[in-house]
Amino acid sequence: MNPLPSPPAPLYVEVAVPLPIDHAFTYRVPPGMEERAKIGVRVLVPFGPRRTTGLIVARVDGSSLSGREAKPVQAFLDEEPYITSRHLEFLSAAARECLAPVGEMLRAALPRGLPRRDAPSAPRTETIFRPAAGGDDGTATPKQRQVLAAVREAGELSATELSARIPGGADAARRLASKGRLAAEVREKPAGFSAGHLPDMSGEITPTLHQEAALAKIGVALASGKFGAFVLHGITGSGKTEVYLRAVEQVRQTGRQAVYLVPEIALTPQLLGRVASRFGGGVAVLHSGLSPAERAAQWRKVRSGEVFLCVGARSAVFSPFPAPGLFIVDEEHDAAYKQEDGIRYQARDLALLRGKMEDAVVLLGSATPSAESVRRTRTGEAALLALPERIGGRELPEIQIVDLKGRASLRGADRYFSPELETAIEETLGRGEKAMLFLNRRGFAPAVTCLDCGQTVQCRNCKVSLTFHQQHDALLCHYCDSRTPPPEKCAVCGGHKIAQVGLGTERLLAWAAKRWKEARVARLDSDVSRRKGAYGEILSRMHSGDVDILVGTQMIAKGHDFPEVTLVGVLLADLSLSFPDFRSSERTFQVLTQVAGRAGRGDRPGKVIVQTLSPEHVCIRAAARHDFAGFMEEELAGRKALGYPPFGRMLLLRLWGPKDDRVRLAAEEVAAALSEPVSAAGVQLLGPAPSPISFVKRKHHFQILLKMPARFPVGDFFPPLLRPLRDLVRKHGVRMEADVDPYHMMV
Ligand code: ADP
Ligand code: ZN
Repeated sequence: MNPLPSPPAPLYVEVAVPLPIDHAFTYRVPPGMEERAKIGVRVLVPFGPRRTTGLIVARVDGSSLSGREAKPVQAFLDEEPYITSRHLEFLSAAARECLAPVGEMLRAALPRGLPRRDAPSAPRTETIFRPAAGGDDGTATPKQRQVLAAVREAGELSATELSARIPGGADAARRLASKGRLAAEVREKPAGFSAGHLPDMSGEITPTLHQEAALAKIGVALASGKFGAFVLHGITGSGKTEVYLRAVEQVRQTGRQAVYLVPEIALTPQLLGRVASRFGGGVAVLHSGLSPAERAAQWRKVRSGEVFLCVGARSAVFSPFPAPGLFIVDEEHDAAYKQEDGIRYQARDLALLRGKMEDAVVLLGSATPSAESVRRTRTGEAALLALPERIGGRELPEIQIVDLKGRASLRGADRYFSPELETAIEETLGRGEKAMLFLNRRGFAPAVTCLDCGQTVQCRNCKVSLTFHQQHDALLCHYCDSRTPPPEKCAVCGGHKIAQVGLGTERLLAWAAKRWKEARVARLDSDVSRRKGAYGEILSRMHSGDVDILVGTQMIAKGHDFPEVTLVGVLLADLSLSFPDFRSSERTFQVLTQVAGRAGRGDRPGKVIVQTLSPEHVCIRAAARHDFAGFMEEELAGRKALGYPPFGRMLLLRLWGPKDDRVRLAAEEVAAALSEPVSAAGVQLLGPAPSPISFVKRKHHFQILLKMPARFPVGDFFPPLLRPLRDLVRKHGVRMEADVDPYHMMV
């Protein structure tokens, strides 16, 4: 018996810091502070010459660390854990799967790294404008007229909503209010966000039998409190969103929370309107347009469980809910779920990973489920839910394929407007209906070429040709964003006949405006939407019927519901087929199905015209028949034969640096070092080879592709192999990045 207890061993903690570092650091907990040292709490620690904030990821009993020097924690920043330990486990598992340092994952997952204090919330009041009684006459600027019309149409609009729709709209409204021509009122801002202009119809909606069946299965899974994955395959307009919203209602009944991912939040104002009018203040929204203070405020609401739904783009998969019970991934096939900057993760796959760790239900919805998700329904990893009919029994539009091959000798617009498309546009406009023209290439002309020597103008920094943009009267590089004035003569032969070759959305708009002079035309692509408020402005013009022909890229394909659009023309369906990428056929099928889904959503039937140079291609023929199943069978068979995902996994190692020979040498050394261990593990190594676009932003790019079986433990196998190789390439002045299951093989 020992009457005197020995002093308690000192406590240590492992602290992860939001830096690209693989491991956590050990710090000593000052005596008396043991209670505060909970896993998930943020701490201030000395780090090199400075201090940094970090997150406690483990508590370590001091007895095992005897003799080791560790600096003390300087401050504990939270009373209660900033994120749950389950969430923390998820982040480290996610980092492992993505072959990324855990600190990098923390940086991606937490708002702005680890802020020291929660920022104050956004202002709580807002100004509302309503039509003023009898205040409607008198002169007004065009902008003021726009504002008056918008307010009259909506009944009331907040200053924020007005500026979102009309640039400078709020200021114009204030001036109108000062003259008594609008009524203005300052009121408390409702929690959550405002409902926008879409009325909620939920009260009047009775789920269809297919929706009922899907919801019943989701309900059972939610009630079980266990992991369950579903693929909701519903054609465009079949009522998927309604299923998501009711599933959110179901999970709310169980006292848990829902995460609702969309590919791009800015493109979904209609959805936000529906969500807000149904759930009001119970919703948080995370998107890239938030200020750090707004983001922190949303984050706090999610963390405290004050809201039960968080809608956001891919990074919302990290929503710090206390007990998430449902992860919805809308348009789960969309490539936007793959983060391509810095840390490369696939948010849909992380939703599945987190769903497993949280015993939650994961609902992957799409009109064109990805090959990966279809495969999961075959192996039993996910259950299939089908919505095979459009709401209201509306027919899918008829799709006509037009072969463009014979038109190559024609000049200018005639080459791209087939008689079929031209007639269809005439007829549509003649009936007072609307058309959308889809072209997946922005700018005016994708190439600028000397007609004397055939030289095409290339970017100084990249091995790609430059695109002429009329809007900027400049040549733009779509890889490095550099701008060059249009050349007056050829840099090679001095010739003066410089031609703008090919078709981009700007030129398409110009042609359409010239040919249909009476039609009101508009363009929507990322060049347009970069201007603040422009996107909302064009959407609201579409909704109020102010646009007869809308020209645009992918952006016009996504999810919109414009009942007056009865014609969709696809100008060049082949563009997305020409990429050297095993997903190009799938992508083309998806985008054709998406754009086609924009036609005929109202009472009148829709029509789609697909112009193409490869009318025989399986993805184009299948899309024209609305034959998802047929397309997917061929696609899966092809992938299986080549061992591509979902039948195998891939890892792309990208290496780049300023000196061609150094990058090549580094790539060869990496390949040589990997060669034996990977082949012993049954992994195939391809390369190194210059990347398909080998010179970008003044850096030379090489790549090594590794192909392995579907169930290969990527996260266990590669990190120890890659760690020394990172140091090796750094010595050559070369950078290396690992991309697990890559989406872009180009650069
Ligand atoms: P999807 O997401 O599959 O494109 P939505 O959920 O947006 O389809 O539904 C298309 C339209 O049909 C929406 O306007 C929606 O309000 C409406 N809707 C959905 N389900 C029903 C239903 N059961 N009864 C009536 N209308 C419905
Ligand atoms: Zn460039």
